[in-house]
Amino acid sequence: MSFQKLDELGHKLTAFEHALAILGADEATHMAPGGGEARAEAMSTLAGMAHRQASAPEIGDWISAAEAEDLNAEQKTAVAEFRRHYVNLTCLPTEFVERQTRTRMRCEQLWRELRAKGDWAGFLPALEGVVELAREEAALRASVLGLSPYDALMEQFDPGNRVADIAPIFAELKTFLVDFVPKALEAQAKRREKLPLRPLSGNYPIDRQRELGLAMMAAVGFDLTRGSLSVSHHPFCGGVPTDVRITTRYKTTEFLSSLMGILHETGHALYEQNLPREWAHWPLGKARGMAMHESQSLFVEKQIGRNPAFWEWALPVVEKHLGEQWSKDEILAHVHHVERGLIRVDADEVTYPLHVILRFELEQGLISGDLEARDLPEAWDRKMRDYLGLSTIDAPQDGPMQDVHWPSAAFGYFPSYTLGAMIAAQQWAAIEREMPDVEAQFAKGRFDAVNEWRNEKIWSQASLWSTPQLIERATGEPLNAAHFTAHLEARYGE
Ligand SMILES: [Zn+2]
Repeated sequence: MSFQKLDELGHKLTAFEHALAILGADEATHMAPGGGEARAEAMSTLAGMAHRQASAPEIGDWISAAEAEDLNAEQKTAVAEFRRHYVNLTCLPTEFVERQTRTRMRCEQLWRELRAKGDWAGFLPALEGVVELAREEAALRASVLGLSPYDALMEQFDPGNRVADIAPIFAELKTFLVDFVPKALEAQAKRREKLPLRPLSGNYPIDRQRELGLAMMAAVGFDLTRGSLSVSHHPFCGGVPTDVRITTRYKTTEFLSSLMGILHETGHALYEQNLPREWAHWPLGKARGMAMHESQSLFVEKQIGRNPAFWEWALPVVEKHLGEQWSKDEILAHVHHVERGLIRVDADEVTYPLHVILRFELEQGLISGDLEARDLPEAWDRKMRDYLGLSTIDAPQDGPMQDVHWPSAAFGYFPSYTLGAMIAAQQWAAIEREMPDVEAQFAKGRFDAVNEWRNEKIWSQASLWSTPQLIERATGEPLNAAHFTAHLEARYGE
């Protein structure tokens, strides 16, 4: 039976993925620097073996045969998701993938070397090569999938997301934010007049911060028997659902960036830890996509971790671990701090979407050919001045050289961040309708009801639905920017 063959293939591919995920997490957290070369070789060999197995021509035949078999509903959905994965994996010729990998890796290396110096002229030829191949990739994917080129790129990250649906929502959000950011800054200045910002004391030992982080992780639902917390240069959530590896980085001068980072990665981890175990070896059992994943991490970081009710419970926990007493208003002034900045990853939840919308608009131009890489510094600067009133024209390292996404050919990924923030706010609105006392629960350190809701509506659904379908099934309506803007107005407005 062909379904049986696919099922066995799923077990094999999951074993490869398991090994690669743990090797990758280990590399970032525990590997001695001297291990780098051999680790890279081991991982690329394993990745090559996995790719050959996953894209073998006979798998296409197995899928077609399985589609004709008498299967139950669950198996049928599993086969459909096998097909979706297989098509996305095999729609680029091997010759193209090799050419693109070489170009991308050279550009990434150059980016690491030249970004700090802001050497745009030195970096541009490599980026032009990547953009040219990204256009080629988009066209190849588009012809196989029957989508427009940019939609075909987004399809890899968030199945079912289309520019025609997202662009108007982002345009509406942009208009709102350009108007709202100055208002939020004014409201913040007024609050500061009444209550000056109390600086963090600047003495937070790492071992105590780690204990605090672990206590918060456990409280919001992280299963410490199936996951762990380490340190890495860039925080991430990796590993596998039964052994989730999350990381943070500590500063001894303040504790909030690490704690908020831990809550964010815990949100990713909760999704992974609660995916249906019986489907773990099928593509169907994976998390739905990047936007939905980001919505789960942002939900824990923003809807829970920056909620005033959360801090009623959390402040005594902070005091217990760090020996410092804070009032709710004093800590919220830090947790809700808004500031216009040049760097996306440092942005707060009010200004962050403008960074993403800028990239979404520019990369559509890059893929369609309306914009050339050499014109990026001016195009970036114009939008940055229009949206945030800041200029990057003399500092390309703070402009189009700041992210790794374009050098690594990840076009179509940026929208996921802001879609995630909007989905998180929409989930919160649905939860508040169904559980009016949810904030009172947070104030008592109770997160089980909110997790049960998310488990039933999101986590247990794995890849059963497209991203837009999952949003609508979980919250009762299609993606609606009004929930996110209402959230910002309530938290950062007057
Ligand atoms: Zn994230």
